[in-house]
Amino acid sequence: MTSRKNHVGRRAFLKTSAAVAGTGLLAASPASAAEPPPPKDSGRRGRRYVVRGGAVMSMDPAVGDFETADVLVEGERIAAVAPRVDAPGADVIDARGRIVMPGFVDTHHHLFETAERAFLANGLLLDDGSGSPSARPNYGEHILQGFARVYRPQDVYVNALFGGLSQLDAGVTTVLDVSQIHHSPEHSDAAVQALIDTGRRAAFGYFEGDGRPGARYPEDARRIRERWFPSDDQLVTLVMGGELHLGRETYTRSWAIARELGVRIAAHSVGSWGMRPVFDEIAAGTAGVRVGPDNLFIHMTGMSDRTWKTFRDAGAQVSLAFPIEMVMRHGTPPILKMQELGMEPSLSSDVETTMAADPFTLMRSAMIMQRMVVNQLVLDQGDLVPPGNWPTPAEGTPELLTVRDVLRYATVNGAAHLGLGARTGTLTPGKQADLVLLDATALNVAPLNSVPGAVVSLMDRTNVETVIVAGRVRKWRGRLLGADLGRLRRELEASRDHLFRAAGVPQDLFAYS
Ligand SMILES: [Zn+2]
Repeated sequence: MTSRKNHVGRRAFLKTSAAVAGTGLLAASPASAAEPPPPKDSGRRGRRYVVRGGAVMSMDPAVGDFETADVLVEGERIAAVAPRVDAPGADVIDARGRIVMPGFVDTHHHLFETAERAFLANGLLLDDGSGSPSARPNYGEHILQGFARVYRPQDVYVNALFGGLSQLDAGVTTVLDVSQIHHSPEHSDAAVQALIDTGRRAAFGYFEGDGRPGARYPEDARRIRERWFPSDDQLVTLVMGGELHLGRETYTRSWAIARELGVRIAAHSVGSWGMRPVFDEIAAGTAGVRVGPDNLFIHMTGMSDRTWKTFRDAGAQVSLAFPIEMVMRHGTPPILKMQELGMEPSLSSDVETTMAADPFTLMRSAMIMQRMVVNQLVLDQGDLVPPGNWPTPAEGTPELLTVRDVLRYATVNGAAHLGLGARTGTLTPGKQADLVLLDATALNVAPLNSVPGAVVSLMDRTNVETVIVAGRVRKWRGRLLGADLGRLRRELEASRDHLFRAAGVPQDLFAYS
């Protein structure tokens, strides 16, 4: 890790965690005696190894799929994908019985909230006055106005690192961290350092904090860019948070800075949070900002047809957090609207306060939600009386999503929506070697009859056996490498204890359910 281009070194305020990062966290752990070791110095320039004999699903139509094939990795990159690759002297990863595919991409995750995992398992976005257990605690009051205000830089660091390692372990090799915790430049530096120390590809989403005196959003983006992101050719890159609901004075500045720096702009768009009017202004051309292909909008629930058409025509991208939108009352995930307009989403996990952040939950939720709606649409075209009980879908009925569709959303589309489509998202020679080996011999999967089908409909994080980022093996045969998880967990628990105490929220393992 010390050789990584954007590993900028230790920070005094991160003493404890940084010591872990420098030694225990990132040094390779000894493999167990029964397991072969991972390829030595994987990811280093000139190092070559072959992932041999797996069922390869490249997600690149030009490369194709293979019942059995080899993937040659050289340094950080994929050098070849073919039924048989001869590479004398190269190390070999035995992938027989494994599915080899691109690592997953999550285009919206609030990593700083890891300490509040499952705190809002019932929680809605806002208090709806019902007095129900879903109304209180809720996200707006207890997370954004509560816990978020008492984060220290070291809390940001260990929360983002632990949540990031968890996703890496689940096969998510790229994330957009929608980081909304920039109370000070020290908070920002801690958030970036955590992404770098996680050792996976990430876009650091520089969003606002609570706006206290000393906060420097959005202007600090220039310093952050200079200090942490001198090159675009890094494992961690910069995305600007450009929330419209912060008001015209702020969003015109954040969008202008983003375009000055040449970085993409991400923003939430949630009708039920009261954001529809400002999006209508954008669509009407009266908001003072111009939407373009560098915009990523998150959720897009409850938005007007005019806004949708404006965004589609501008080439803007949309990230859908299917499970969270359904559970927390953002509104119905607008997948049918996107199909109607010929758009495709990427997938996002959003918050672990309320739902797991693994890619299998995201893909399955998308399938389940869309097919529930479309299947009922089709049934409603009949009358449940034979032969009208099983109607042929009328013209114009939306197509059912397939496992291939949601796999594309979770890989190719995610990479493209973060501006990383040339670097990751498919197993294409020349791209960075971000890939996962999924165990198709496992009890919950065998026998293997369909590669895309098994991944989407059967697998879970226990099947993610090996994870490789930029050629570097980060998880090997079921075990995350170079992470002192016991120590990090204790640091996270200490952070959690501080956050609950400082926010005045009693810790109670059964109260918030
Ligand atoms: Zn969000």
